[in-house]
Parts: sequence; C-alpha cells; structure tokens
Amino acid sequence: MTTFEQIDTHLKMLSLHQMREIYRNEAENAAKTKLSYQEFLLRLLEQQVVSKIDRSINRSIQLACFPIIKRLEEFDFSYQPQIDEKLIRELSTLNFLDEPKNILLLGPPGVGKTHLAIAIGIKGCQARKRVRFYTAEQLTQDLAASEISGNLQKILVSLSRIDLLIIDELGYLELSKKTATLFFQLISKRYEQGSVIITSNKPFEEWGQIFQDDVVAAAILDRLLHHCHTFFIQGKSYRMKQIFKN
Ligand code: ADP
Ligand code: MG
Repeated sequence: MTTFEQIDTHLKMLSLHQMREIYRNEAENAAKTKLSYQEFLLRLLEQQVVSKIDRSINRSIQLACFPIIKRLEEFDFSYQPQIDEKLIRELSTLNFLDEPKNILLLGPPGVGKTHLAIAIGIKGCQARKRVRFYTAEQLTQDLAASEISGNLQKILVSLSRIDLLIIDELGYLELSKKTATLFFQLISKRYEQGSVIITSNKPFEEWGQIFQDDVVAAAILDRLLHHCHTFFIQGKSYRMKQIFKN
C-alpha cells in the first residue's frame, strides 16, 4: 500500500472526510509553496473544522423543520417601512434568547411575518441554538395526540428545552377548548424559560375567539406579552406585488 493509500484509509476510519478529500492537493501545494509541517497540518485541520460547523448548522436547520428557507438578507425592508428594521436586525443577533423575550408578528397575509420568523430562526441555527418551527395547527395536533397517548408531559418538557420555538399562523384556525388549554400549558411552561416567536393574522382583541375562551386567551397573552417585542405590520402584501409585477 502506498503512503497516500494508508493515509486515505486512516482518514476514512476516523471519519475525517473533508481532510480526506483535500489531503492530496494540499500536500502537493504545501510541497510547492514550502509550507512548514505545522502550517500544513493547520490548513487541513481548519478545513475539517469548517466542514464540521457547516454540517452541524445544516443539521440544526433540518431539525428545526422550516417549511422553506428564508433569510433576513432577502427581506426588502423598503417594501414594508412600518417594520422597525433596526430592531429586527438587533433581534437577529439573538440577544433576546438570553433574556428571554418573545416576538409577536401580527398583521394580514403576505406582509412577511413567516419570512421574518424563519429568518430569525435560521440565525438561531447558525448560532447553534435549538430551534423548532411549527404551524399552530401542527403544534396543537401534536399536543392533543400526545395527551391521548399519555405523553403530554414528555412533549412539554422537550418543547421547553428548545431555545427558540416558532409558532406560525396562530388564528387561521380556531382551537377547541381542549387544545386551547394544552396551548396554555405550553406557553406557561416556556414562560420566562425560553423565547417564542408567534405569527398571527388576528389582533389581540380577537384572540378570545381563537381560543374560544376570553379567560384562557387573556392568560396566554399575559404571559407572552410580559417580555415581548410586538410588531404590528399593516403594510401591503408582498404576494400582491409579485402578482402585479408579472
Ligand atoms: P405572511 O406570513 O405575513 O403571510 P410571508 O412571510 O409568507 O407572509 O410572505 C409571503 C411571500 O412574500 C414570501 O415568499 C416572502 O418571502 C415574501 N415576502 C414578504 N415580504 C417580503 C419583503 N418585505 N421582502 C422580500 N420578500 C417578502
Ligand atoms: Mg405566514
């Protein structure tokens, strides 16, 4: 076996795939450019580390279950001047996760609520935070199913361990009284423990209707709003802009 083949076998066994891919070229370049042994080793290790970080970010993006990838860099703030761009940019540094504070994005369809929620979630994944995206419908279905199967506490505990929980489209569907109570339990569990981002097309006055109970709605809002950045977005739908452009 040649030395290259032996190195290849060892790198494979150690799962150092990135080093395995670049090793031959890097060795040739190092010989040409007269890199020291240490500099050569450092180059290989650096690239292996970068690849490991990339993979871990991709993995946490996958685990977050975003329905689509949206980035802050793609968001056109000039189309939605009502949104406090500076505050969104500050939130994208994720300091709010440490406090922890919640974010509510309220407004009619198409104004970018889901886009912003996902974009902040992606920043969280890039910072290696545990992020999980749910639609309100999916989340309440999961909670209801876990209660039936006797796993409610387990799922509540696992949801309370997530650094950033995103709940999209609260209010598109009314919840049953039962699921409203489960939702309340979740919000109580995360209260002052971990941040939640919620998007909704319904103003606060109509949350009683979503939960079919004014008292439960008030209790949920009380906990959510205690430490919270709320964005009321009243602008035009970006979807309409796209339709009329075509
Ligand atoms: P909402 O959740 O408020 O209904 P979305 O976030 O789903 O709206 O936005 C609808 C579509 O328009 C998405 O494809 C989103 O990426 C895009 N979009 C919305 N607002 C903007 C914006 N200001 N700049 C760029 N794209 C936007
Ligand atoms: Mg949406």
